[in-house]
Amino acid sequence: MPLVSMRQLLDEAAKGGYGVGAFNVNNMEQIQAIMEAAKETQSPVIIQASRGARAFAQDRYLYHLILAASELYPEIPLAMHLDHGNSFDTCKSAIELGFTSVMMDGSLREDGKTPNTFEENLDVTRRVVDFAHERGITVEGEIGVLGGVEDGHGAGGTGLEHLTNPDQAVEFAEKTGVDALAIAIGTSHGAYKFSKKPDGSVLKMDLLIAIHNRLPKTHLVMHGSSSVPKDLQDVINQYGGKLKQTWGVPVEEIQLGIRNGVRKVNVDTDNRLAITGAIRKVLWETPEKFDPRDYLKPARAAMQKVVATRMTQFGQAGHASDYAAVSIAQIQQGYKDGTLSTRPKAAK
Ligand SMILES: [Zn+2]
Repeated sequence: MPLVSMRQLLDEAAKGGYGVGAFNVNNMEQIQAIMEAAKETQSPVIIQASRGARAFAQDRYLYHLILAASELYPEIPLAMHLDHGNSFDTCKSAIELGFTSVMMDGSLREDGKTPNTFEENLDVTRRVVDFAHERGITVEGEIGVLGGVEDGHGAGGTGLEHLTNPDQAVEFAEKTGVDALAIAIGTSHGAYKFSKKPDGSVLKMDLLIAIHNRLPKTHLVMHGSSSVPKDLQDVINQYGGKLKQTWGVPVEEIQLGIRNGVRKVNVDTDNRLAITGAIRKVLWETPEKFDPRDYLKPARAAMQKVVATRMTQFGQAGHASDYAAVSIAQIQQGYKDGTLSTRPKAAK
């Protein structure tokens, strides 16, 4: 299957009432782990690259590796997404390279740290939507500011400082026409999300439900949604690592989100933990080894296991063959004639 529009993936997920994991990649082994998990569970999937990943691997390597994945697994609907674009130009360059979806994170300034004003966020996101939709490309926006820092991106804090205001979310969706919207409900990027198992005082699922009720056609996105399971932390610490104990977003809370309009769930940290734990174990137990394949193979297998588990938990498993790819040209037409509008006033 050619790379598909993320919009198509998310529309199908909404029809089927499930969520789709969006997994971050920096290298070939991570892409292989995701695709093997997708094959194993028969899942549609989103592979995403951040600016940090594009800088680490160089754009073209990532693009061609993901393209190779779409050729090797023709039965898997696969969207290629830019995670946390920081400017119009970053999004434009990803679209010109061949990404089928971009995130314009206008919640922060171009420095990726300083919170933006609502008007500035509106303005830059609207420009990206106009440019992207003319080319049949999906856009995710962000309103409110997530906590934490990852890959040098983020405002820091606990995630409770700039929660999404539902009235602003409605205005933002109406004025920008984004396909998907990341909202701030108390989650953070990175491994250190919560200092205990989160409850409603720090993870605002009620806010998510209120926003979904006002924006039924806009696909909601949960960022910072690794669950940071204790067993993955333990493997790292057992083999010489030094992680402080931490809590992520419990899977049952993500599932509650999926029952309430969440269609894209971003997961990165859990995969990083799985990879690092597997590598540490090999190097600790067999210090005489020096062939990278000796530790990259178990690392890839450990990530595949986490991804396959999440695919089952998010409900996307078994849905790979529900539909055929709609061409980007058809999606482009849908934006042009208004049939793909998500604006609340256009909602029927
Ligand atoms: Zn994010």
